[in-house]
Amino acid sequence: MAKAIYPGSFDPAHNGHIDIARRAATVFDELVIAVYKSPPTKRLMFSTEERVEMFQESVSDVPNISVVPFTGLAPVVARENGAQFIVRGLRAGLDFELEFEMALMWRHVAPDIDVVCIMSSLDYQFVYSSRIKEVASLGADVSELVPPHIAEALASRINE
Ligand code: ADP
Repeated sequence: MAKAIYPGSFDPAHNGHIDIARRAATVFDELVIAVYKSPPTKRLMFSTEERVEMFQESVSDVPNISVVPFTGLAPVVARENGAQFIVRGLRAGLDFELEFEMALMWRHVAPDIDVVCIMSSLDYQFVYSSRIKEVASLGADVSELVPPHIAEALASRINE
């Protein structure tokens, strides 16, 4: 059985992430979305529980996807979950260099775990969680970039 984890901050999940997760779920028998509890370099808008719940609701119709919080190194988490693969999404440009560098470090840590990159769909090339939060805070309509429940969560967090 081929099992993968898809790690990320997902603060919040957007249509680009959800597209990668849905496509990965057609490749692997089981996909675990691993939501990074406290990424060291990011200021988060949503709590771990909120990020897990938002992703869960976005893929609730896909039976072989589960969503869990995680902390620590992704390849170690993959092993602990019995997964042989780590899925990452690639947008054009900078992502490749960063993902390649990280994949080599992860391979150093856990040579038994392989990284599988899935290319972003054309529609989501420019979609970044950080940009969505920024423009939503400035009043932009982001309803084409995130599912409705996440657009609502963003609006209410911004209005708090
Ligand atoms: P991280 O903090 O690990 O980069 P993110 O939540 O930003 O976490 O992203 C998780 C994964 O999803 C990464 O592999 C990232 O490249 C990928 N990703 C982010 N946005 C998109 C997008 N618009 N299309 C495809 N993949 C994406």
